[in-house]
Amino acid sequence: MTTFYSEELECYVCGKTSTQTSVGSTNAFGSPDLDGRPPEMQRSTMGAWVQRCPSCGYCSADISEGKPGTRELIESDSYKNQLGDPGYPKLANMFLCFSILEEGAGNIVSVVQLQINASWACDDAGTGSSARECRLKSAASLEKVRDSGMKMHPEEPGVDEAILVDLLRRAGQHEKARSRCREALEQGYTDTVGGVLEFENELISQQDVAPHTIAEALEKGV
Ligand SMILES: [Zn+2]
Repeated sequence: MTTFYSEELECYVCGKTSTQTSVGSTNAFGSPDLDGRPPEMQRSTMGAWVQRCPSCGYCSADISEGKPGTRELIESDSYKNQLGDPGYPKLANMFLCFSILEEGAGNIVSVVQLQINASWACDDAGTGSSARECRLKSAASLEKVRDSGMKMHPEEPGVDEAILVDLLRRAGQHEKARSRCREALEQGYTDTVGGVLEFENELISQQDVAPHTIAEALEKGV
């Protein structure tokens, strides 16, 4: 089962105290999605992955902590506009605001995952167009990470490439997804990553933009 706990935290930016919820423990049974989204029950704990100060709007994994420059960034127009953007669900805006701060701090690897989290929040809220925008943002960020010579998953060759293909596929960027998928297949990754990429290739041919799991890919054995 999942347990949550609440605590009173003092905001790093404004010093006001608020009650915030965190995940105490959870579990994950089953297969992650192709973009790495965990199965239940961890899947449903996402609302506690990011905190928001109700006074100043600071969004972070732990609002009692922060980095130099945070205060200036949360006062910027881009941050404020994102925080109140009516085109996205509230939780997605929180992840995207957190991503703006991480980008400002130069943590571009962390930006990718936060934008992916935002796409999941949009999926859950049933807002397809904003989910697509979050996937396009995260795909662009992931390419930026790659171009900088970094990786989200340095220990697992090909996983970043497979996630990029899934982001593009689910955003409906079929041609780009196909081209990135072919490039990745040519790298000759492990059976697991290779199986996922073969499955992605098939989904792209069918213009399938739905979520699928890694288990499905491996069962298919295409
Ligand atoms: Zn605050």
